[in-house]
Amino acid sequence: MVKSCCAYLCHSKAKETARNAGISFFRFPKDKRKRSLWTKVINRADWEPNDSVRICSLHFVDEWKSDAPEDVNYVPTIFNYKEKTLSTKQKDLLAQKQLQRCIDQTNRESAILAHSCFTAEVEISVDHNDMDVEDDTEKGVDSHSH
Ligand SMILES: [Zn+2]
Repeated sequence: MVKSCCAYLCHSKAKETARNAGISFFRFPKDKRKRSLWTKVINRADWEPNDSVRICSLHFVDEWKSDAPEDVNYVPTIFNYKEKTLSTKQKDLLAQKQLQRCIDQTNRESAILAHSCFTAEVEISVDHNDMDVEDDTEKGVDSHSH
């Protein structure tokens, strides 16, 4: 079964495409206090996370979770359901981030490619086999004539 993000209106699925886009999937924390905070922000009625529940990194400010309570990434804060009150600015920002990530990824890949092309020197093997021209046959012919 493909794991998908539990956030409302989020369609992230733990598949190759998500990985390629740099999206990670996190389990809900075991720590009760943190877990309840996360559950609260998911904002689903009569819903409790179980061990198979995942939330994707798109809901974290820095796209990664944090264990420090004072960290902004301690709790996921970016959710589509909040867009009703906010503008689409957040979405644009997110799209921009995604795009930048794509560009970064592409740049990195082409940089690696360029690098490997640059370092892969073509070895030109020069054949040093000097031809030993034997003149035995000529001698033979000579001795014959004598
Ligand atoms: Zn998500």
